[in-house]
Amino acid sequence: MMTIMKARYRLFATIMAGLVALGSVHSAVFAGNGHSQGSAAVDSARLRAADREPDAWMRAGRTYDDQRFSPLTQINAGNAASLGLAWYSDLDSDRSQEATPIMVDGVLYISTAWSKVKAFDAKSGRLLWEFDPKVPRDVGQVACCDVPNRGVAVWKGRVYVGGLDGRLIALDAATGKLVWSTQTTDPRLSYTITQAPLVAKGMVVIGNSGAEYNVRGFVSAYDADSGKLKWRFYTVPGAPGDPHTTPQLEAARKTWSGEFWKSGGGGTVWDGIHFDPVTDMIYFGTGNAVTWAADIRSPGAGDNLFTASVIAVDVKSGAYRWHQQLVPSDEWDYDVCSPLMSADLMIGGRRRHVLMQAPKTGFFYIWDAKTGETLSANAFAPQNWATGIDLKSGRAKVNPAVRYGVDRPAIIWPAPQGAHNWHPISFSPRTGLVYLSVTEQNAAFQQMPAQTFEIKDRVFNTGVIFTSDAIDRLYAAPGAPKRGLGASYLQAWDPVKGQEAWRAAYPEYGASGTLVTAGGLVFAGNHGGDFTAYDARSGRRLWAQPTQSRVLAAPSTYMVDGQQYVALLVGGRGPSTGQVRTSATSANNSRLLVYKLGGTAQLPNAAFKSAVALRLDPPLLTGSTERVIAGQQSFGKYCAGCHGVSAVADKAIPDLRFSPVLHSLTEWKGIVLGGARSANGMVSFKGILAEGEEENLYHYVISEANKAKAADEASKRP
Ligand code: CA
Repeated sequence: MMTIMKARYRLFATIMAGLVALGSVHSAVFAGNGHSQGSAAVDSARLRAADREPDAWMRAGRTYDDQRFSPLTQINAGNAASLGLAWYSDLDSDRSQEATPIMVDGVLYISTAWSKVKAFDAKSGRLLWEFDPKVPRDVGQVACCDVPNRGVAVWKGRVYVGGLDGRLIALDAATGKLVWSTQTTDPRLSYTITQAPLVAKGMVVIGNSGAEYNVRGFVSAYDADSGKLKWRFYTVPGAPGDPHTTPQLEAARKTWSGEFWKSGGGGTVWDGIHFDPVTDMIYFGTGNAVTWAADIRSPGAGDNLFTASVIAVDVKSGAYRWHQQLVPSDEWDYDVCSPLMSADLMIGGRRRHVLMQAPKTGFFYIWDAKTGETLSANAFAPQNWATGIDLKSGRAKVNPAVRYGVDRPAIIWPAPQGAHNWHPISFSPRTGLVYLSVTEQNAAFQQMPAQTFEIKDRVFNTGVIFTSDAIDRLYAAPGAPKRGLGASYLQAWDPVKGQEAWRAAYPEYGASGTLVTAGGLVFAGNHGGDFTAYDARSGRRLWAQPTQSRVLAAPSTYMVDGQQYVALLVGGRGPSTGQVRTSATSANNSRLLVYKLGGTAQLPNAAFKSAVALRLDPPLLTGSTERVIAGQQSFGKYCAGCHGVSAVADKAIPDLRFSPVLHSLTEWKGIVLGGARSANGMVSFKGILAEGEEENLYHYVISEANKAKAADEASKRP
């Protein structure tokens, strides 16, 4: 095979040399590698030989190992200071942008919020085509964390994207026209897809999200040509007699109690699916169980397999190979769906082929990719939930003090968003370091009384209270940690030594994806809105430019016609501090930005004229204290996911405290129960809310709006 590959590339080289001599190379015809532009002629052989095509970035993680390391060196530590914007494109989605751009055969492919796909000429930035799957906006209600999409996969002339509504969609890479589409989930249940599909052995592999709701996790593999289901792996047992039961799931059933299947069980695989052609295995991590509170979902405890676990399956059949449960009987939303990557490392004097992950839990794991043996697990961030990891069994030694109850709240590090979440990490074989965004934060948990808790459709079913007098007392106690957001930084982690090599502080709390290059550069954005290049060995800041937006996504880099580019999607929920909306089509300056050495393009610097100035103008509070307190509880349960904790929202989803609707309970009811704004994604909560609950919510928001107004006025007094 290698010989054929070599011959094929030699042939291309010869043809290309001939064309160059004739002066007939045209970027609209050839992409510089013999493939016509837009052909997306990616296959296994080409991906396995990706290092012979350093110019391309053919999949989200670039190579099969998902290291996100580029061999390109034109942009390097010596000249990064002269980076500038080559071109940019405004996006028409004003929600979070989380995709890594893919560049193959001269075309840059991206996905954006609401699962839209766009293809650009990678050099000029000319839009070639766009595709909108027209996801029904009410699906946003069951998407835990906005409506992003983390990227596309390209394969043999097709582009694959997961629709937020659970569809897997295949497009023609040249035209953007639909080839096939299949519903991978039960649309009646609260499933969503935000991850990039993974292509392996001619199959498209995809999981789903929804473990905060009431779903059962699974991973599916579809034939890339036809869209036919090839295999499906369920991560938690179903109801007794479930036809999908395997011996492993039957064994897993013994780690649960009660009628757990009625709430789906959870364990969704919502990101981080990895294929390793060395072992021919697919690896993925699973999310939390439903509910978060263990005493509600599985009274009397049990490990609740295979939630919060990393699982290896055979790529061809989907058959179980090994698993490691990172968090036995998780209660803190410690999904282990963070990116997985494979690498060859020298460990204990031996060359080992390993799988690595930096999950939410704050421990950096290295496993033997073939056997699943835990080779190391070292804390990369503050945590108090485990006193360590037993390497022999792989089992975490859970600190009993963090197991919370109805009368026993507990403060836990890290918070549910994790010490590191989905944000792509990168590894440089040159420096031997892994580059990741770390966020430090604690959270307090208290269980809802089991008898007052009821599993409901389309809402968070955590069984947990995050605000209470008991929690306030806990934080007020001597020696308690500071409540709220902590530090966040770019960390260079030495996986072999199991320790931090350096860190560079971010200006604002939040995480972003990373990219590392053979030019000795690490690229990362941040929530302060900068896009920054760091020296990969020292962490020294070599270049930064404002993007006018929060950056969540990871950059990628590619070369066209001898010019190296760095591409990045920007856009979070709301612009970063001190920045204003500059685009008519997007509330948060969502854009695709492409940089090169000496680039001179400029972002618009004037605020978009019709941006509405927000004004706090609530009516006086007339609701009783009881109503406000009940409304606070309901808000945490039903509203906070979109409209923000304590009713403080970002700028893409309305901050209800500023809403003129607060002046009319009738209008409020028309929206909350009547579905008057369902076309915008604010669906009716009729049948979900108990009688009078909508009114409690109304008074609670008015109360919060008046508090904010009073604080605002107090701050303006001399
Ligand atoms: Ca989760």
